[in-house]
Amino acid sequence: MVVNVSLAVSFKCLECGKEYPLTEFVYSCRACSSKGMFRGSLDIEYDLEEAKSRLSKETLENRKTPFWKYKELLPIADESHIVTLGEGNTQLIKADKLGSSIGASNLFLKNETRNPTWSFKDRVFTVLVSKAVEYGYKTIGLASTGNAAAAASAYAAKAGIDCYIFVSETTSTAKITQMLMHQAKVVKIKGGLTEAGSVSTEACKQFNWFHVTTGKSMQPFSTEGPKTLAYEIAEQLNWEIPDNIIVPVGGGDTFGGIWKGFKDLKEIGLTNKLPRMVLAEAEGAPLITKAFREKKQYYQVPPIEPHTIAAGIKVGIITGPWPLIALNESHGLAETVSDDEIVEAEKLMAVKEALFSEPASAAPVAVLKKLLDNGKIGRDESNVCIITGSGLKDIDPLEKYLEAPPMIKPDIRALKALLEQQKQ
Ligand SMILES: [Zn+2]
Repeated sequence: MVVNVSLAVSFKCLECGKEYPLTEFVYSCRACSSKGMFRGSLDIEYDLEEAKSRLSKETLENRKTPFWKYKELLPIADESHIVTLGEGNTQLIKADKLGSSIGASNLFLKNETRNPTWSFKDRVFTVLVSKAVEYGYKTIGLASTGNAAAAASAYAAKAGIDCYIFVSETTSTAKITQMLMHQAKVVKIKGGLTEAGSVSTEACKQFNWFHVTTGKSMQPFSTEGPKTLAYEIAEQLNWEIPDNIIVPVGGGDTFGGIWKGFKDLKEIGLTNKLPRMVLAEAEGAPLITKAFREKKQYYQVPPIEPHTIAAGIKVGIITGPWPLIALNESHGLAETVSDDEIVEAEKLMAVKEALFSEPASAAPVAVLKKLLDNGKIGRDESNVCIITGSGLKDIDPLEKYLEAPPMIKPDIRALKALLEQQKQ
């Protein structure tokens, strides 16, 4: 007999509260999804009372397997269905040099570039691909700006299932190469992520593929993997919860998932404080910040054409309730930054902490600097910035911000002349 290791009990509609059994997969609440696009988002409910008796700080600290050590709080019932590449347990860097250069006395960077496909999306896809296997799907399909697709293709390869990926026409060569190497079937869609998303949704419906596009109210499990960021941060800080968690946001599932994770820990009794969630967007893709400030529902904000060099947060539509729920419940902050501020923060991180992140990952650092400067975050507060992906995945936008290296004759006198010139 298979032992159910997960304490997940049901799907629960975030709008009307209706519950659905986990035994049969549903994308969204049948009653609420007819109200409009992205409506009827489902959350995963867990038996947190039972978790109290099964999980203690010592139990978790003694488990050595990264990520899946939190199996009770993840939605895979049968451990033999788990598809893992050793994701999670990424470094939490005490970033004193970066902190002092932006005026933060207590700054940490959660270095998600160390995951198997070099981004935080590995947390999402170890869960989604495992869940596809558990439900018996043979194919997954998604639309992505890049990191999600790279992770999906790697985990699908490991699981031995097919993976169809619909990407926007501007997706970087590095990211597409990664997908093709894992034998994903990649289709470029003219336009942006929104257009790719609608093709992906329709294809999954018609061909019965497991739809794993994240950032949509369509895939209820997409918030579950990111919860482990909260669990790890708490454990790495000896169960002391930082004041602010600053996250770059595209769709917002990770933002919502991290918040859910911190709430779990408090409810189980492992911590006694909740952080404030701080959402970082680009000036050219500011929809959630706008909705939050104008106190609107996510579905009341019309889509825009997004503009930013930060591919991971270049999203022109709000696809679900998660980011606003987390902002409202945590009395959070939302802020936007310009591309110039993003690149400045990216360079600062590379110089002060030797951490080369992609532009989207630098947005939290740029936002933190802005909020410290305008006094919305105090200089003695503790902050964790989520550094979501590696810089090598998105180098094209940096070209115009960097000086090309000089070339000289193979001669020491030429070098001396150059160094003399550079001193001036
Ligand atoms: Zn409902």
